[in-house]
Amino acid sequence: MSRSIRNLVILGSTGSIGCSTLEVVRSLPHRLKVLGLSAHQSCQELVAQACGFLPRWAIATDRPSAQRADWSGLPDQTRLLVGMDGLQQVVSHPDVDVVVAAIVGSAGLMGAWHAVQSGKTLALANKETLVMAGPLIMAEAARCGATILPIDSEHSAVFQALQAGRRADLRRVVLTASGGPFREFSRQQLDQVTVEQALNHPTWQMGPKITVDSATMMNKALEIIEARWLFGLDADQITVVVHPQSVIHSLVEFKDGSVIAQLSPPDMKLPIQYALTYPERVDCPSDKLDWTKASSWDLCPPDEQRFPALTLGHEVARSGGTSGAVLNAANEAAVEAFLAGRIRFTDIVPACRAVLEHHHFDPSPSLDELWTWDAWARREITTWIGI
Ligand code: MG
Repeated sequence: MSRSIRNLVILGSTGSIGCSTLEVVRSLPHRLKVLGLSAHQSCQELVAQACGFLPRWAIATDRPSAQRADWSGLPDQTRLLVGMDGLQQVVSHPDVDVVVAAIVGSAGLMGAWHAVQSGKTLALANKETLVMAGPLIMAEAARCGATILPIDSEHSAVFQALQAGRRADLRRVVLTASGGPFREFSRQQLDQVTVEQALNHPTWQMGPKITVDSATMMNKALEIIEARWLFGLDADQITVVVHPQSVIHSLVEFKDGSVIAQLSPPDMKLPIQYALTYPERVDCPSDKLDWTKASSWDLCPPDEQRFPALTLGHEVARSGGTSGAVLNAANEAAVEAFLAGRIRFTDIVPACRAVLEHHHFDPSPSLDELWTWDAWARREITTWIGI
């Protein structure tokens, strides 16, 4: 990335991370320029964002929504592209330096894959990319000379803290978890959790899927798997600690026992900006810690009896192969079923475990095979629910 201005494509620009990315771009007009914005169904928001940032391309990936939408407000200089082909075309364009992968769920994998294949810098917020296809993505990035920079706050923290020592001297990584809104709930209380309660996260404002994942702690399970592939760790080198204030974003421990952490108030703009300006650090519009006020931060080990997703996360990080894609798809389908009122909150993780244990494990699947397993796991969830 030798140009002084970095040209970005933001995949999933109308979502929570996409909107925060645009705020970062707005605050750094001399460093960052938006060349492309993509949305799935939120076409009107896409038009509004295009009017604000005047990108070269706007991509609507959902064809039926694109056909229904009114594109008359799109700026003259912005070309509309529809479908996944359009997304691939933009991501691989030679003028693009950085692809921000901010699409939620397995839908984000293909955009990230094309970015890696085109040798781009991939600013990765979509954890499912590495959960589903970690070994394939990392190998392809190495082959094509792509750089992957994490946007997930915990992984950004690990990435930053790792710079304090040599990789060979790393003992372990400690991922912090807010514990979600039900951190203190008993097993019985967890059984009664409603959709409204699950969607009300205490510290982070996020989309519905990741908010439910945070409440079940499946989000942390997925992050264990993400960290395993991104940093090339053994599953046993990854520990989770509950930290309700979400100020310490993660820690790394070196061989000598020194622990290095990254701290900041919870605001995604900071990890986003770090990925977009790396290796430079510049002023950021996010809040700063106030050292003139007394503060205390809690850290405690998670209760895997009440939050069994964590055990599952370590198991899948250990086994690799098809497990990540199966767990991820099963979880997406189970969360959907919970949000639709078809299963209880405490059914989500057992449903995922049942589907995972029922699948015929393959240690080195192809990308196409992972999609087959993804579809299979979603059907299995439907069977498990009994509808
Ligand atoms: Mg995270």
